[in-house]
Amino acid sequence: MRVEFDRETCIGMFQCVAEWEGFERDEDAGKAVLVDGEEEEPGKFVREVPDDAELDAKFAARVCPVDAITIHEDGEQIVP
Ligand code: SF4
Repeated sequence: MRVEFDRETCIGMFQCVAEWEGFERDEDAGKAVLVDGEEEEPGKFVREVPDDAELDAKFAARVCPVDAITIHEDGEQIVP
């Protein structure tokens, strides 16, 4: 399972941070940070989700009010 994070879209409400430790706060930027994320293209960060974090990562994607976080499996977007 893979997570994609669109940092440009993020509005820094930090609901995701409460759901999964894969996201941290960047208070200065007013944006979340995808921990260990790789910048695949400008502003778009990706990483694999560990098996034991799959539920938390899905919750993080669901609570994001602007759908800046998406979860993908086998090339398909499964959340939101
Ligand atoms: S919940 Fe969405 S908008 Fe809020 S900090 Fe996380 S990614 Fe950004």
